[in-house]
Amino acid sequence: MPLLVMKFGGTSVADLSRIENAAKKVQREVARGYDVIVIVSAMSGETNKLVSFVEGTSKLYDAREYDAVVTAGENVTAGLMALRLQEMGIPARSWQGWQVPINTTSAHGSARFVSIPRDHIDQKFAEGFKVAVVAGFQGVSAEGRLTTLGRGGSDTTAVAFAAAFGAERCDIYTDVDGIYTTDPRIASKARKLEKIAFEEMLELASLGAKVLQTRSVELAMRYKVRLRVLSSFEDTDENSGTLVCDEEEIMESKVVSGVAYSRDEAKMTLVTVEDRPGVASAIFGPLAEAGVNVDMIVQNISEKNYGSHPGAVTDMTFSVPVNQVARAQKAMEDARSAGLINYDELVADTEVAKVSVVGIGMRSQVGVAAKMFQALSSENINIKVIATSEIKISVLIDRKYMELAVQALHDAFELDKA
Ligand code: ADP
Ligand code: ASP
Ligand code: MG
Repeated sequence: MPLLVMKFGGTSVADLSRIENAAKKVQREVARGYDVIVIVSAMSGETNKLVSFVEGTSKLYDAREYDAVVTAGENVTAGLMALRLQEMGIPARSWQGWQVPINTTSAHGSARFVSIPRDHIDQKFAEGFKVAVVAGFQGVSAEGRLTTLGRGGSDTTAVAFAAAFGAERCDIYTDVDGIYTTDPRIASKARKLEKIAFEEMLELASLGAKVLQTRSVELAMRYKVRLRVLSSFEDTDENSGTLVCDEEEIMESKVVSGVAYSRDEAKMTLVTVEDRPGVASAIFGPLAEAGVNVDMIVQNISEKNYGSHPGAVTDMTFSVPVNQVARAQKAMEDARSAGLINYDELVADTEVAKVSVVGIGMRSQVGVAAKMFQALSSENINIKVIATSEIKISVLIDRKYMELAVQALHDAFELDKA
Protein backbone atom coordinates (compact mmCIF):
# COMPACT_ATOMS: atom_id res chain seq x y z
CA MET A 1 0.00 0.00 0.00
CA PRO A 2 1.24 3.54 -0.68
CA LEU A 3 1.62 5.46 2.54
CA LEU A 4 1.15 9.09 3.53
CA VAL A 5 2.10 10.95 6.67
CA MET A 6 -0.41 13.64 7.66
CA LYS A 7 0.42 15.92 10.58
CA PHE A 8 -2.12 18.12 12.32
CA GLY A 9 -0.92 21.00 14.49
CA GLY A 10 -2.51 22.38 17.63
CA THR A 11 -5.13 24.66 16.09
CA SER A 12 -6.11 21.88 13.68
CA VAL A 13 -7.09 19.64 16.63
CA ALA A 14 -8.15 22.42 19.02
CA ASP A 15 -11.53 20.87 19.82
CA LEU A 16 -13.69 17.88 18.93
CA SER A 17 -15.15 19.43 15.79
CA ARG A 18 -11.68 20.31 14.49
CA ILE A 19 -10.52 16.77 15.21
CA GLU A 20 -13.49 15.59 13.17
CA ASN A 21 -12.55 17.97 10.37
CA ALA A 22 -8.98 16.62 10.40
CA ALA A 23 -10.27 13.04 10.48
CA LYS A 24 -12.28 13.75 7.32
CA LYS A 25 -9.08 14.75 5.55
CA VAL A 26 -7.57 11.45 6.63
CA GLN A 27 -10.69 9.60 5.48
CA ARG A 28 -10.30 11.13 2.01
CA GLU A 29 -6.74 9.82 1.69
CA VAL A 30 -7.76 6.38 2.93
CA ALA A 31 -10.50 6.37 0.30
CA ARG A 32 -7.82 7.12 -2.31
CA GLY A 33 -6.08 3.92 -1.29
CA TYR A 34 -3.45 5.14 1.15
CA ASP A 35 -2.40 3.76 4.48
CA VAL A 36 -1.93 6.81 6.67
CA ILE A 37 0.26 7.65 9.62
CA VAL A 38 -1.33 10.61 11.38
CA ILE A 39 0.87 12.66 13.67
CA VAL A 40 -1.00 14.88 16.11
CA SER A 41 -0.04 17.83 18.27
CA ALA A 42 -1.69 18.71 21.55
CA MET A 43 -4.84 20.82 21.35
CA SER A 44 -3.76 24.46 20.91
CA GLY A 45 -2.81 26.12 24.18
CA GLU A 46 -2.48 22.77 25.93
CA THR A 47 1.32 22.51 25.82
CA ASN A 48 1.66 26.12 27.02
CA LYS A 49 -0.63 25.32 29.91
CA LEU A 50 1.36 22.23 30.87
CA VAL A 51 4.64 24.16 30.62
CA SER A 52 3.24 26.87 32.89
CA PHE A 53 2.28 24.20 35.43
CA VAL A 54 5.88 22.99 35.45
CA GLU A 55 7.32 26.49 35.70
CA GLY A 56 4.83 27.38 38.40
CA THR A 57 6.05 24.43 40.44
CA SER A 58 9.80 24.65 39.96
CA LYS A 59 11.88 27.46 38.50
CA LEU A 60 14.98 25.44 37.63
CA TYR A 61 12.93 22.31 37.00
CA ASP A 62 14.19 18.77 36.45
CA ALA A 63 13.88 18.33 32.68
CA ARG A 64 12.83 14.68 33.05
CA GLU A 65 9.73 15.74 34.92
CA TYR A 66 9.05 18.57 32.46
CA ASP A 67 8.88 15.91 29.76
CA ALA A 68 6.71 13.65 31.90
CA VAL A 69 4.17 16.49 32.18
CA VAL A 70 4.19 18.04 28.72
CA THR A 71 3.89 14.79 26.75
CA ALA A 72 0.38 14.47 28.15
CA GLY A 73 -1.13 16.92 25.64
CA GLU A 74 -0.36 14.81 22.57
CA ASN A 75 -1.52 11.61 24.27
CA VAL A 76 -5.02 13.01 24.57
CA THR A 77 -5.35 14.04 20.92
CA ALA A 78 -3.86 10.77 19.64
CA GLY A 79 -6.54 8.76 21.45
CA LEU A 80 -9.31 11.13 20.40
CA MET A 81 -8.24 11.07 16.75
CA ALA A 82 -8.20 7.26 16.74
CA LEU A 83 -11.67 7.22 18.31
CA ARG A 84 -13.03 9.71 15.78
CA LEU A 85 -11.67 7.66 12.88
CA GLN A 86 -13.18 4.49 14.33
CA GLU A 87 -16.52 6.31 14.56
CA MET A 88 -16.20 6.94 10.82
CA GLY A 89 -15.68 3.24 10.23
CA ILE A 90 -11.94 3.46 9.64
CA PRO A 91 -9.78 0.90 11.48
CA ALA A 92 -7.36 3.10 13.46
CA ARG A 93 -5.09 2.66 16.45
CA SER A 94 -3.23 5.27 18.53
CA TRP A 95 0.39 5.11 19.67
CA GLN A 96 2.24 7.03 22.31
CA GLY A 97 5.96 7.51 21.69
CA TRP A 98 7.11 4.74 24.03
CA GLN A 99 4.72 2.24 22.46
CA VAL A 100 6.18 2.49 18.96
CA PRO A 101 8.86 2.88 20.45
CA ILE A 102 10.21 6.21 19.21
CA ASN A 103 13.73 5.87 20.58
CA THR A 104 15.47 9.16 21.32
CA THR A 105 18.52 10.50 23.09
CA SER A 106 18.04 11.43 26.73
CA ALA A 107 18.47 15.19 26.11
CA HIS A 108 15.21 16.01 27.85
CA GLY A 109 13.31 18.90 26.30
CA SER A 110 15.37 18.72 23.10
CA ALA A 111 15.78 15.01 22.40
CA ARG A 112 16.81 13.66 19.02
CA PHE A 113 15.68 10.50 17.29
CA VAL A 114 17.83 7.41 17.59
CA SER A 115 15.54 4.93 15.83
CA ILE A 116 11.92 4.31 14.92
CA PRO A 117 11.37 0.56 14.57
CA ARG A 118 8.56 -0.17 12.12
CA ASP A 119 7.49 -3.62 13.27
CA HIS A 120 4.54 -2.79 15.55
CA ILE A 121 2.91 -0.34 13.17
CA ASP A 122 3.63 -2.45 10.07
CA GLN A 123 2.03 -5.38 11.89
CA LYS A 124 -1.14 -3.36 12.50
CA PHE A 125 -1.33 -2.28 8.84
CA ALA A 126 -0.89 -5.97 7.89
CA GLU A 127 -3.84 -6.82 10.15
CA GLY A 128 -6.01 -4.44 8.14
CA PHE A 129 -5.74 -1.23 10.12
CA LYS A 130 -5.74 1.77 7.77
CA VAL A 131 -4.48 4.48 10.10
CA ALA A 132 -1.82 4.67 12.82
CA VAL A 133 -2.24 7.79 14.92
CA VAL A 134 1.00 8.72 16.64
CA ALA A 135 1.43 11.29 19.40
CA GLY A 136 3.88 13.90 18.09
CA PHE A 137 6.65 15.70 19.95
CA GLN A 138 7.62 12.76 22.16
CA GLY A 139 9.76 9.68 22.48
CA VAL A 140 11.46 7.47 25.01
CA SER A 141 15.10 7.43 26.13
CA ALA A 142 17.36 4.41 26.56
CA GLU A 143 16.71 4.82 30.30
CA GLY A 144 13.01 4.27 29.61
CA ARG A 145 11.98 7.85 30.42
CA LEU A 146 9.62 9.99 28.35
CA THR A 147 11.34 12.65 26.26
CA THR A 148 10.24 15.62 24.15
CA LEU A 149 11.79 17.05 21.01
CA GLY A 150 11.53 20.78 21.69
CA ARG A 151 8.63 23.12 20.96
CA GLY A 152 7.03 22.53 17.61
CA GLY A 153 8.49 19.02 17.63
CA SER A 154 5.49 17.26 16.08
CA ASP A 155 6.67 18.51 12.69
CA THR A 156 9.87 16.58 13.25
CA THR A 157 8.00 13.48 14.35
CA ALA A 158 6.05 13.67 11.09
CA VAL A 159 9.13 13.94 8.87
CA ALA A 160 10.94 11.20 10.79
CA PHE A 161 8.00 8.84 10.27
CA ALA A 162 7.81 9.76 6.60
CA ALA A 163 11.50 8.86 6.28
CA ALA A 164 11.27 5.68 8.36
CA PHE A 165 8.20 4.36 6.51
CA GLY A 166 9.14 5.58 3.04
CA ALA A 167 6.01 7.71 2.77
CA GLU A 168 5.05 9.16 -0.58
CA ARG A 169 4.65 12.59 1.06
CA CYS A 170 4.69 14.30 4.41
CA ASP A 171 1.79 16.75 4.62
CA ILE A 172 1.89 19.29 7.45
CA TYR A 173 -1.64 20.61 7.99
CA THR A 174 -1.77 23.88 9.87
CA ASP A 175 -3.69 27.13 10.35
CA VAL A 176 -2.13 28.91 7.35
CA ASP A 177 -2.37 27.70 3.75
CA GLY A 178 1.36 27.51 3.14
CA ILE A 179 4.73 29.06 3.78
CA TYR A 180 4.82 32.81 3.26
CA THR A 181 7.56 35.39 2.68
CA THR A 182 7.05 36.26 6.34
CA ASP A 183 4.52 35.48 9.05
CA PRO A 184 1.19 36.50 7.46
CA ARG A 185 -0.11 37.30 10.94
CA ILE A 186 2.19 40.25 11.35
CA ALA A 187 2.66 41.43 7.76
CA SER A 188 -0.52 41.68 5.73
CA LYS A 189 1.53 41.96 2.55
CA ALA A 190 3.17 38.57 3.11
CA ARG A 191 3.01 36.44 -0.05
CA LYS A 192 2.48 32.71 -0.21
CA LEU A 193 5.29 30.76 -1.85
CA GLU A 194 4.69 27.88 -4.29
CA LYS A 195 8.00 26.33 -3.34
CA ILE A 196 10.84 27.09 -1.00
CA ALA A 197 14.35 25.61 -0.92
CA PHE A 198 15.34 23.41 2.00
CA GLU A 199 18.28 25.68 2.85
CA GLU A 200 16.10 28.79 3.01
CA MET A 201 13.39 27.12 5.05
CA LEU A 202 16.06 25.76 7.37
CA GLU A 203 17.35 29.29 8.02
CA LEU A 204 13.87 30.80 8.34
CA ALA A 205 12.86 28.10 10.81
CA SER A 206 15.99 28.37 12.88
CA LEU A 207 15.56 32.15 12.98
CA GLY A 208 12.05 31.87 14.37
CA ALA A 209 9.54 31.12 11.59
CA LYS A 210 7.69 28.52 13.58
CA VAL A 211 5.62 27.20 10.68
CA LEU A 212 8.07 24.27 10.65
CA GLN A 213 10.43 23.12 13.37
CA THR A 214 14.03 23.49 12.21
CA ARG A 215 14.91 19.88 12.80
CA SER A 216 12.02 18.71 10.62
CA VAL A 217 13.48 20.61 7.66
CA GLU A 218 16.91 19.19 8.38
CA LEU A 219 15.55 15.65 8.37
CA ALA A 220 13.48 16.21 5.24
CA MET A 221 16.55 17.52 3.44
CA ARG A 222 18.71 14.61 4.57
CA TYR A 223 16.19 11.86 3.79
CA LYS A 224 14.68 13.49 0.69
CA VAL A 225 11.18 13.61 2.12
CA ARG A 226 8.59 15.41 0.00
CA LEU A 227 7.48 17.95 2.57
CA ARG A 228 4.45 20.16 2.14
CA VAL A 229 2.68 22.74 4.33
CA LEU A 230 -1.04 23.28 3.74
CA SER A 231 -4.26 24.40 5.36
CA SER A 232 -6.34 22.11 7.53
CA PHE A 233 -9.31 24.47 7.18
CA GLU A 234 -9.59 24.64 3.40
CA ASP A 235 -10.26 22.07 0.72
CA THR A 236 -6.91 20.84 -0.44
CA ASP A 237 -5.50 18.59 -3.17
CA GLU A 238 -2.07 17.35 -4.29
CA ASN A 239 -1.13 20.85 -5.48
CA SER A 240 -2.17 22.85 -2.43
CA GLY A 241 0.15 24.63 -0.06
CA THR A 242 3.89 25.11 -0.30
CA LEU A 243 6.41 22.45 -1.22
CA VAL A 244 9.80 22.46 0.49
CA CYS A 245 12.26 21.16 -2.08
CA ASP A 246 15.73 21.30 -3.59
CA GLU A 247 17.05 24.65 -4.74
CA GLU A 248 17.25 23.34 -8.33
CA GLU A 249 13.48 22.84 -8.50
CA ILE A 250 12.82 26.55 -7.98
CA MET A 251 12.54 29.03 -10.81
CA GLU A 252 11.89 32.17 -8.83
CA SER A 253 15.06 33.70 -7.50
CA LYS A 254 15.22 36.73 -5.29
CA VAL A 255 18.15 37.92 -3.27
CA VAL A 256 16.07 37.89 -0.10
CA SER A 257 13.24 35.39 0.01
CA GLY A 258 11.91 35.76 3.52
CA VAL A 259 11.90 37.65 6.81
CA ALA A 260 11.80 35.83 10.14
CA TYR A 261 11.53 37.02 13.70
CA SER A 262 12.01 35.62 17.13
CA ARG A 263 10.14 37.52 19.79
CA ASP A 264 11.38 36.14 23.08
CA GLU A 265 15.06 36.90 23.10
CA ALA A 266 17.25 38.33 25.82
CA LYS A 267 20.56 40.10 25.52
CA MET A 268 23.01 39.43 28.33
CA THR A 269 26.28 41.26 28.91
CA LEU A 270 29.08 40.22 31.22
CA VAL A 271 30.69 43.52 32.10
CA THR A 272 34.49 43.64 32.42
CA VAL A 273 35.71 40.12 31.98
CA GLU A 274 39.43 39.55 31.55
CA ASP A 275 40.69 39.75 27.98
CA ARG A 276 42.94 36.69 27.86
CA PRO A 277 42.99 33.27 26.18
CA GLY A 278 40.51 30.85 27.71
CA VAL A 279 37.91 33.36 28.90
CA ALA A 280 35.34 32.67 26.17
CA SER A 281 35.66 28.98 26.84
CA ALA A 282 35.25 29.56 30.60
CA ILE A 283 32.01 31.47 29.88
CA PHE A 284 30.38 29.40 27.16
CA GLY A 285 31.42 26.00 28.53
CA PRO A 286 29.36 26.36 31.73
CA LEU A 287 26.46 27.90 29.75
CA ALA A 288 26.40 24.88 27.43
CA GLU A 289 26.60 22.50 30.37
CA ALA A 290 23.63 24.26 31.96
CA GLY A 291 21.67 23.67 28.74
CA VAL A 292 21.52 27.36 27.78
CA ASN A 293 21.03 27.96 24.06
CA VAL A 294 23.39 30.77 23.24
CA ASP A 295 22.70 32.36 19.87
CA MET A 296 24.54 35.59 18.98
CA ILE A 297 27.87 36.42 20.59
CA VAL A 298 29.67 39.75 20.54
CA GLN A 299 32.86 40.58 22.32
CA ASN A 300 32.99 44.31 22.84
CA ILE A 301 36.33 45.98 23.19
CA SER A 302 36.16 48.06 26.30
CA GLU A 303 37.57 51.59 26.32
CA LYS A 304 40.04 50.53 28.94
CA ASN A 305 41.44 47.98 26.57
CA TYR A 306 44.10 48.68 23.97
CA GLY A 307 45.67 45.45 22.73
CA SER A 308 45.92 42.42 24.94
CA HIS A 309 48.24 43.60 27.67
CA PRO A 310 48.04 41.95 31.11
CA GLY A 311 45.05 43.25 33.01
CA ALA A 312 43.10 44.12 29.87
CA VAL A 313 39.35 43.72 30.13
CA THR A 314 36.44 43.40 27.73
CA ASP A 315 32.65 43.00 27.77
CA MET A 316 31.05 39.84 26.47
CA THR A 317 27.51 40.06 25.07
CA PHE A 318 25.40 37.09 24.06
CA SER A 319 21.74 36.37 23.38
CA VAL A 320 19.63 33.57 24.84
CA PRO A 321 15.92 32.72 24.81
CA VAL A 322 14.27 34.92 27.41
CA ASN A 323 13.09 31.93 29.46
CA GLN A 324 16.70 30.82 29.92
CA VAL A 325 17.93 34.02 31.56
CA ALA A 326 17.68 32.61 35.10
CA ARG A 327 19.53 29.48 34.05
CA ALA A 328 22.27 31.55 32.39
CA GLN A 329 22.58 33.81 35.44
CA LYS A 330 22.99 30.83 37.71
CA ALA A 331 25.59 29.22 35.42
CA MET A 332 27.63 32.45 35.42
CA GLU A 333 27.38 32.92 39.18
CA ASP A 334 28.48 29.32 39.71
CA ALA A 335 31.38 29.78 37.29
CA ARG A 336 32.43 32.89 39.20
CA SER A 337 32.18 31.14 42.57
CA ALA A 338 34.28 28.29 41.18
CA GLY A 339 36.95 30.82 40.17
CA LEU A 340 36.60 30.08 36.44
CA ILE A 341 35.73 33.65 35.47
CA ASN A 342 35.47 37.07 37.00
CA TYR A 343 33.15 39.92 36.03
CA ASP A 344 31.70 43.09 37.56
CA GLU A 345 28.10 42.65 36.56
CA LEU A 346 25.78 40.54 34.42
CA VAL A 347 23.24 42.81 32.73
CA ALA A 348 20.14 41.22 31.17
CA ASP A 349 17.98 43.08 28.66
CA THR A 350 14.86 40.95 28.41
CA GLU A 351 12.96 43.27 26.05
CA VAL A 352 14.61 42.41 22.75
CA ALA A 353 13.63 40.51 19.62
CA LYS A 354 15.59 39.18 16.67
CA VAL A 355 14.65 40.01 13.09
CA SER A 356 16.39 38.34 10.15
CA VAL A 357 16.38 38.38 6.38
CA VAL A 358 17.15 35.14 4.53
CA GLY A 359 17.97 34.34 0.93
CA ILE A 360 20.17 32.03 -1.06
CA GLY A 361 20.78 34.92 -3.47
CA MET A 362 22.83 36.67 -0.77
CA ARG A 363 25.69 34.32 -1.55
CA SER A 364 26.41 36.25 -4.71
CA GLN A 365 24.97 39.69 -4.02
CA VAL A 366 26.54 42.55 -2.10
CA GLY A 367 24.70 45.40 -0.37
CA VAL A 368 22.01 43.37 1.37
CA ALA A 369 23.19 44.36 4.84
CA ALA A 370 23.39 48.02 3.85
CA LYS A 371 19.83 47.89 2.51
CA MET A 372 18.59 46.19 5.66
CA PHE A 373 20.22 48.71 7.98
CA GLN A 374 18.92 51.58 5.86
CA ALA A 375 15.36 50.25 6.09
CA LEU A 376 15.62 49.95 9.87
CA SER A 377 17.20 53.36 10.27
CA SER A 378 14.47 55.02 8.26
CA GLU A 379 12.01 53.70 10.86
CA ASN A 380 14.33 54.95 13.61
CA ILE A 381 14.94 51.44 14.91
CA ASN A 382 18.19 51.03 16.80
CA ILE A 383 20.25 47.89 16.16
CA LYS A 384 21.76 46.30 19.27
CA VAL A 385 23.58 43.29 17.89
CA ILE A 386 24.25 42.10 14.33
CA ALA A 387 25.07 38.60 13.12
CA THR A 388 25.54 37.39 9.56
CA SER A 389 26.12 34.15 7.76
CA GLU A 390 26.23 33.12 4.12
CA ILE A 391 22.49 33.39 3.52
CA LYS A 392 21.13 35.45 6.43
CA ILE A 393 21.52 38.70 8.34
CA SER A 394 20.05 39.02 11.83
CA VAL A 395 19.69 41.96 14.15
CA LEU A 396 18.63 42.29 17.74
CA ILE A 397 16.31 45.24 18.36
CA ASP A 398 13.86 46.46 21.00
CA ARG A 399 10.93 44.06 21.04
CA LYS A 400 8.37 46.85 20.70
CA TYR A 401 9.65 47.58 17.17
CA MET A 402 9.63 43.97 16.01
CA GLU A 403 6.47 44.07 13.85
CA LEU A 404 7.45 47.41 12.38
CA ALA A 405 10.90 46.05 11.49
CA VAL A 406 9.47 42.97 9.80
CA GLN A 407 7.10 45.09 7.71
CA ALA A 408 9.80 47.61 6.82
CA LEU A 409 12.15 44.84 5.66
CA HIS A 410 9.40 43.08 3.74
CA ASP A 411 8.76 46.36 1.90
CA ALA A 412 12.41 47.23 1.39
CA PHE A 413 13.14 43.89 -0.30
CA GLU A 414 9.81 44.00 -2.21
CA LEU A 415 8.81 40.56 -1.06
CA ASP A 416 5.17 41.19 -1.86
CA LYS A 417 6.09 41.08 -5.57
CA ALA A 418 6.65 37.74 -7.24
P1 ADP B 1 0.83 24.26 14.26
O1 ADP B 1 0.16 24.38 15.57
O2 ADP B 1 -0.05 23.79 13.17
O3 ADP B 1 2.13 23.49 14.33
P2 ADP B 1 2.31 26.73 14.33
O4 ADP B 1 1.67 27.80 15.12
O5 ADP B 1 3.43 25.97 14.97
O6 ADP B 1 1.18 25.74 13.83
O7 ADP B 1 2.85 27.29 12.94
C1 ADP B 1 1.97 27.98 12.09
C2 ADP B 1 2.15 29.47 12.29
O8 ADP B 1 3.45 29.84 11.85
C3 ADP B 1 1.24 30.33 11.48
O9 ADP B 1 0.00 30.53 12.13
C4 ADP B 1 2.03 31.63 11.32
O10 ADP B 1 1.58 32.62 12.22
C5 ADP B 1 3.44 31.25 11.71
N1 ADP B 1 4.43 31.62 10.72
C6 ADP B 1 5.61 32.23 11.00
N2 ADP B 1 6.30 32.45 9.90
C7 ADP B 1 5.58 31.99 8.87
C8 ADP B 1 5.78 31.94 7.46
N3 ADP B 1 6.89 32.43 6.88
N4 ADP B 1 4.81 31.37 6.70
C9 ADP B 1 3.70 30.87 7.25
N5 ADP B 1 3.45 30.89 8.58
C10 ADP B 1 4.37 31.44 9.39
N1 ASP C 1 2.54 20.55 21.28
C1 ASP C 1 3.94 20.83 21.11
C2 ASP C 1 4.18 22.32 21.15
O1 ASP C 1 3.24 23.08 21.29
C3 ASP C 1 4.50 20.22 19.88
C4 ASP C 1 3.87 20.67 18.58
O2 ASP C 1 2.76 21.18 18.56
O3 ASP C 1 4.51 20.51 17.55
O4 ASP C 1 5.29 22.76 21.08
MG1 MG D 1 4.05 23.99 15.00
